[in-house]
Amino acid sequence: MRKLSSCITLKPASEEASYEAAIKVNPNNAPKRSPGEFSINAVASHTKLWPEHRWLTISFVDNPPTALQDAIEQLIWQWDPHVSLIFGVSKDANADIRISTNTTLNGSSIGTDALTVEAGEPTMYIGLKPSDPDFKVTVLHEFGHALGLEHEHQHPHANIPWNKPKVYKAYAAQFGWTKELVDDQLFTPKGTDSLRIAPYDKTSIMHYPVDKEFTDGIWEVGTYTELSEQDITSVGEFYPKNNY
Ligand SMILES: [Zn+2]
Repeated sequence: MRKLSSCITLKPASEEASYEAAIKVNPNNAPKRSPGEFSINAVASHTKLWPEHRWLTISFVDNPPTALQDAIEQLIWQWDPHVSLIFGVSKDANADIRISTNTTLNGSSIGTDALTVEAGEPTMYIGLKPSDPDFKVTVLHEFGHALGLEHEHQHPHANIPWNKPKVYKAYAAQFGWTKELVDDQLFTPKGTDSLRIAPYDKTSIMHYPVDKEFTDGIWEVGTYTELSEQDITSVGEFYPKNNY
């Protein structure tokens, strides 16, 4: 059986804290409604994007070996040409993105949810080492979350024909995940219309690979190890470079 993906999107301290942090740092995160549109759950429909052209500071919380830190930074920088944010690695314990490598987890806060994480605590976990074949895809993927991207397999239009009982069983056996956690990270559609401006993209770096063993036996998604064209377009629309 192939290795399963196990990235966990970290929950904000609370939905209210998520909303407040998102709006405070970037008022454009407020829910957008077209005239006549009615939303009964405004809190759940805000975006979590950093302000355009903002410095986004990044630090490592547990002093990783230089080679590991360099390998992570190099991959993070693959996003840099496509966004107006200015990445800056620092030793600041209060940097926006705080990466822990001394872990077995892989996961990240979504965008400005990182601001709801207690000072000094990690906002991102990268447990894989550069020798792992999934290291590259994992670092690119986790930093996509830090830029505000949700899981692509949870795109409201994904319609993946999951074999749910099999998925629950495999995640319980391999990672000890509860049914609730599997629901939250794989099955529950995520993202508002304003966040999901792009159509569903099977080749996104934000998509877990899906073996046909876990679907109807036909549907599958391979491992894509590069930012997809649409990943690049999406972050370019979130953080346009020439929008002064
Ligand atoms: Zn993820």
